[in-house]
Amino acid sequence: MFDLKDLYQQVIVDHNKHPRNFGRLEDPSHEAEGYNPLCGDRLHVYLKVDDQDRIEDVRFEGEGCAISMASASLMTEALKGRTLEEFRALFEGFHELVTSSGDVACDETDLGKLAVLGGVRAFPSRIKCATLCWHTMKNAIERSGVARTE
Ligand code: ZN
Repeated sequence: MFDLKDLYQQVIVDHNKHPRNFGRLEDPSHEAEGYNPLCGDRLHVYLKVDDQDRIEDVRFEGEGCAISMASASLMTEALKGRTLEEFRALFEGFHELVTSSGDVACDETDLGKLAVLGGVRAFPSRIKCATLCWHTMKNAIERSGVARTE
């Protein structure tokens, strides 16, 4: 029988095995490291933001569980070409997706493929695995965001 959860599982397995945008980015305008001590996931995210506040390129390195790696891979795909404002909206949407109780309707269509990670809300110990990359990205933007020279 067709099960949507199996499809979601496949996307996560695929992104874990073949992470998109994996590796170091030369000359990033922003970067940060993230660590999830509950699971041992480590990430380093790199971004290049242009003078229109658009994310021109984003990459990540690190190691961790399948959820953390798949989430980072899916996040980089979702963020390339987006503005920092769009990032903030997606951050909120993603956070709600993975932390809301099942009966709160959240608009999964806006999040696109990121919706596959909604299943972690049933496993509270894995939520930090899924959100680590987002928090790391937010730190990268907020810490070095104002230090750009024109
Ligand atoms: Zn993890």
